[in-house]
Amino acid sequence: MLEAPQPRSLDCSEPVIEPIQAPVTDQTSRALADAVIAEFAERRNAWLQRKAHRAPATHPHASAIDKCTRAMVYDITRGEQKPAFNLETTARVERGTKLEKRIIGPMLAEMGMESIGQQAFCQVRNSQGDLLCTGHVDTFLLYEGLIIPTDIKTAHPYRWHRFNTAQDFFDDDWAWRYPLQLMVYMHAYSTTPGSVPFGFILLDDCLGHVKDPIPIFYDEDLANKIMDRCQQALYHARDHTLPDFYSDPAHCTRCDWHKCGVCAPPMNYEAVGGVKVISSEELEQALLDRETSEPGKRAFDAAERIIGQTVKRCEPGTYLCGPFRIDIVEQSRAAYAVPASSFNKKKIDRFIVLAKDSELGSRIDEVA
Ligand code: SF4
Repeated sequence: MLEAPQPRSLDCSEPVIEPIQAPVTDQTSRALADAVIAEFAERRNAWLQRKAHRAPATHPHASAIDKCTRAMVYDITRGEQKPAFNLETTARVERGTKLEKRIIGPMLAEMGMESIGQQAFCQVRNSQGDLLCTGHVDTFLLYEGLIIPTDIKTAHPYRWHRFNTAQDFFDDDWAWRYPLQLMVYMHAYSTTPGSVPFGFILLDDCLGHVKDPIPIFYDEDLANKIMDRCQQALYHARDHTLPDFYSDPAHCTRCDWHKCGVCAPPMNYEAVGGVKVISSEELEQALLDRETSEPGKRAFDAAERIIGQTVKRCEPGTYLCGPFRIDIVEQSRAAYAVPASSFNKKKIDRFIVLAKDSELGSRIDEVA
């Protein structure tokens, strides 16, 4: 009868690795490591700062279709004043660009999915020959001789799982641009032989997960409205005129032109006594999650963690993020077992704006 294999007994003469504590080292090595770390951080930030620059536009771009026509006019007339991306956003944009070129393309090839035309230029002109909009299609998937415009996007891992359908993008205060961008591409290629009345968004979470393609179906009426919006922006820029402010102050808090002080929509800041605006899709999502989930639930705790990180970094004061107002006050910690110190305490409310312009420009989400 065969004996059952016995587990190998531990030979205590062999070195046992017990990762209990990170090794400490002598000061010279630590100082050397610190010098390399400092150089790495400095070079990474300088590299991101060089990438953060945004070139001024001479006409609307598919990736910058806005609900607010005024913002699209500023893109053309005040482009050199547009604030650079912050380093975090730049890092994600950079990752997205690398994804398009080095990961998704080779991945599709290895999977046996055919694709062509990386970064294919497209443009739409009106009957007078005015250049209304341009863009670059990330790639076209090929399927039985048909070409499917496909845009590769990244989402913060905290938000990635929320997007599964076209409607999820349209409903999102930050990602609504993605289907409109694809709509421009479909419009530009609508008469090309082999084109289909839909496109795909491939969504990556920056952690190596790519969702199944999310289809966006072509809607000619919506595409024409987007082109009308582009034409309005172009003509305003030419005539040195400006359309009205946008009707939703929460949208203005996410707008670069508000952030850099070029546009001052009639928001009743006096009601909150001087504010700073935080434009962050992750923070706004966390504030929304906090509002819609219950304390003790996982979603609430995750949201609190993200909000807490921001609150810790902020000076005391009042901040707006999307439709939310965050009041941060400094609180003292009493000295018991730990030394006395201070921490930031937050109070979060929906931001209610009193001033609204009644003669506001039409909104894409209303007309669509
Ligand atoms: S701040 Fe508001 S009104 Fe001004 S450009 Fe931006 S979205 Fe439009």
